Amino acid sequence: MSQPTILIVEDEKKLSRVLQLELEYEDYRTETADNGKDALRLITEKKWDLVLLDIMLPGLSGVEVLRRVRKSNDDTPIILLTARDEVHDKVSGLDLGANDYVTKPFQIEELLARIRVHLRQSAKKEIESPTLSVGDLAINTDSREVQRENELIDLTPREYDLLICLLENKNIVLTRDQLIERVWGYDYFGDTNVVDVYIRYLRQKIDKPFTDAYIQTVRGVGYTIKDIKK
Ligand code: CA
Repeated sequence: MSQPTILIVEDEKKLSRVLQLELEYEDYRTETADNGKDALRLITEKKWDLVLLDIMLPGLSGVEVLRRVRKSNDDTPIILLTARDEVHDKVSGLDLGANDYVTKPFQIEELLARIRVHLRQSAKKEIESPTLSVGDLAINTDSREVQRENELIDLTPREYDLLICLLENKNIVLTRDQLIERVWGYDYFGDTNVVDVYIRYLRQKIDKPFTDAYIQTVRGVGYTIKDIKK
């Protein structure tokens, strides 16, 4: 993993500064927020490898920030920073989907160890669910789930293989013969028109219901899946 990014949300200036120095010393990239509103905006706008979230904050509380983040299906790892007398908030924080918490005052080594654990876990999660994607079309090649605009799309095995082949060669035009070879296999002796038929099926499912089409016909050559430039 290249330099992980960590957002520090803490309104005690001194603690925030200490955390920032310690984390940067460990080679993490950091940014800080000192209130709930800025925290929520930063978490939504950018992608973080981890967020340290204080509970008692001006504006929105840490628990409220967490609730809103999780409600929008954002699963960024979040470690709560709680005070000893915030047991109730700590419990609701964990119920709301916080990944962990540390109680103030804490040893910096303890916090660093927790951070490493959560960064390792999310790195593992990424490897465990390999995805192929273009724009809003994503395929989990383990579960063979195909999604566009977060809707699951049901494909037959042949349609799926054809889509994978096109996606693995994104922006490259494949001829009908190449597609036959790679999707139907060398021993296929039928007509190459079968490619056109299956491209039509695939289009009905992954392009037709949506505004933009990913599958492009290159006249006289074959087919390709292209990134849609907006
Ligand atoms: Ca605080």
